[in-house]
Order: sequence, then structure tokens, then C-alpha cells
Amino acid sequence: MDVQGLIQSGTKRRRLRLHDSSFSELRAVLEWQFRKRGKQVLPVPSYNTSRECFLCGGINKGLTLEDRVFLCPRCGFTVDRDLNASLVLLKRVGWVPPFWCACG
Ligand SMILES: [Zn+2]
Repeated sequence: MDVQGLIQSGTKRRRLRLHDSSFSELRAVLEWQFRKRGKQVLPVPSYNTSRECFLCGGINKGLTLEDRVFLCPRCGFTVDRDLNASLVLLKRVGWVPPFWCACG
């Protein structure tokens, strides 16, 4: 199927749907590959992962793409923004880091 051709010739609404279908096909293939290898696939909402503090859940609304370091306005937690986003994703699927304590 010439998905790229359909995307270029379609209306804006069709283009958006085709982009979504391409993404859903990619997701289906990835899920199939992971399950085939006995790996667990967990859907995770990605909303605000870059802006949410891994430790306290505070939101840094002023964080821009140029900011490479996350600074929590609530608790002061400071870490690389990509690492923070990764930790937020892991936290959303229920992962608890080994260094976790009840104080934080
Ligand atoms: Zn925080």
C-alpha cells in the first residue's frame, strides 16, 4: 500500500487518519514482536511526561524543548529532562525504583 502517496494526496482529515493508522500499525507490529519474545507490553499515557516531576508529581509548566535539565518548582528535584521523563513513564506502569523511600 502506498501510504505516503495517500497521505500527500488526501485532505487534511484523511492525512491525519492515515498518520494515525500508520502509527497504529507500527504499534501493532511492535506489540506482536515483544509478545512473541515473551515480553510484556504496557500502554502508558505520555501526556506531560517531560514536565511532571518524577518524585512529587509537580508540573514545571515553563519547561521548553531547549531546557535539557528538569527542575521541579515544587520540591526542587533536578535531573536530566529525558531521564526524568523516562522515570515518569516507568512510575506510571507501577515501577518502584530500588532507592525509593517513604520520605519522598
Ligand atoms: Zn518535585
